Amino acid sequence: MWLFKTVFDLFYPQLCYGCNAVIPKQSDALCPTCLLHLPFIPVAVSDNTEMKRRFYGKLKVTYCAAVLYFSKDSVTQKLLHELKYKNQQNIGVFFAELALKQFKNNAVFIETQAIVCIPLHPSKERKRGYNQLAAFCTELSNNLNLPFYKDYLIKVHKSGSQTKKNIFQRAKKTTEFVVNPKYNYLKSTHFLLIDDVMTTGSTLENAGNCILKNTTHKISILTMAYTR
Ligand SMILES: [Zn+2]
Repeated sequence: MWLFKTVFDLFYPQLCYGCNAVIPKQSDALCPTCLLHLPFIPVAVSDNTEMKRRFYGKLKVTYCAAVLYFSKDSVTQKLLHELKYKNQQNIGVFFAELALKQFKNNAVFIETQAIVCIPLHPSKERKRGYNQLAAFCTELSNNLNLPFYKDYLIKVHKSGSQTKKNIFQRAKKTTEFVVNPKYNYLKSTHFLLIDDVMTTGSTLENAGNCILKNTTHKISILTMAYTR
């Protein structure tokens, strides 16, 4: 078995998602150098200032947190690309491990009571075969002992890429999500709402307001990455 594994590694070595260097252990997503230079967001930044400010006057959010900074051609972008389009769901677990270390004993994990995520449109999820947030959320759910309501939010119509639309086209989109009625029994829950990347925050804003509308729930936000 050992010999087989060695020969297998020789022909199909595990490559670093960041720089394509051969990495020794099959389980690692990144080589030691890329790991060392990950663009972590200081906890204080995501906690209260920069991130939360983007929601002022738009969404009432209790805590905000994100794991890595996102920028063009960064390791963060390469990781998320593999996760989203290449079915590398182990990267979701990798991000969860980073988040658990980064926000250990932080209010964003201590005070929240259930995990919900931004859904894909059902037809898009069927095509892709998975929601790229599922592995991340499941790993957090298991470690934090919080329920993960995977189908809490439902995306109600398909939309093109948000980034290709101008501000007026975006503003018109107000009914992007609905709450799954099977969760109507939940009362006053503090949700941890999860997405992969926060750029303008408009998706999280729509989803968050959909939850807060006519309920006494609270919302905190955690994303894998955040664009400055
Ligand atoms: Zn590397």
